[in-house]
Amino acid sequence: MDESEGRPVDRRGFIRDAAVGAAAFAAPGKLMGDQDESHGHSHDHGHDHDHDHQDVPPDIALRVRALESVLVEKGMVDSAALDEIVDTYENRVGPRNGAEVVAKAWVDSAYRERLLADGTAAIGELGHLGGQGEHMKVVANTPAVHNLVVCTLCSCYPWPTLGLPPVWYKSAPFRARAVIEPREVLSEFGLDLPDDVEVRVWDSTAEIRYLVLPERPAGTEGMTEEELAEIVTRDSMIGVARVETPSGANPGGDA
Ligand code: FE
Repeated sequence: MDESEGRPVDRRGFIRDAAVGAAAFAAPGKLMGDQDESHGHSHDHGHDHDHDHQDVPPDIALRVRALESVLVEKGMVDSAALDEIVDTYENRVGPRNGAEVVAKAWVDSAYRERLLADGTAAIGELGHLGGQGEHMKVVANTPAVHNLVVCTLCSCYPWPTLGLPPVWYKSAPFRARAVIEPREVLSEFGLDLPDDVEVRVWDSTAEIRYLVLPERPAGTEGMTEEELAEIVTRDSMIGVARVETPSGANPGGDA
């Protein structure tokens, strides 16, 4: 929270300026024309065109590619290294590490206590710390409390436990609405909470990232830790879903 208070405009401004700078390298012709207009004087291209005049290309992917191409061209990053990082978090880490943490907390009450008392240390016990996950706080759902994680400023997310954030997590509507009307947002995700369940919204930042410890579903008493890890979803650890009883399980007992 600390980080998002005080200087959000500076950080947004930085991101915007960086994107504009990168776009200028990538497409100097177009941006020069646009800059003319942003300086406030009129101009006439003398030709018909249907593109919008704006400082930054609207497509975030375009901006990212422009940034990447400049950084690669200047020798500041290596394309192959970037691919490796993306592949690691997209395909190899994913949310499975977080699911392991949750499953262990479900079967081991001492671990659960350590996890809630010091998330960073307890997640570290399983070896799932790293960049974008140095300071972790784990918040537990109960029958009376439901936790939801958002990054209102940008897209802070615990990479070592959950992999890369989903597109909707980074979207402006989710970031704004999660704090204004969390129940409506959850409902749109298919999670309708009774009025007597308190909703707590946690704002992730560069300093601290949150992981939701979902409730263990009924009917899973006979399942092993490994089997439990299989049913824990990414969305349940962000707090936009519950973990459901698997179809083969018997909520009535006799597993
Ligand atoms: Fe963020």
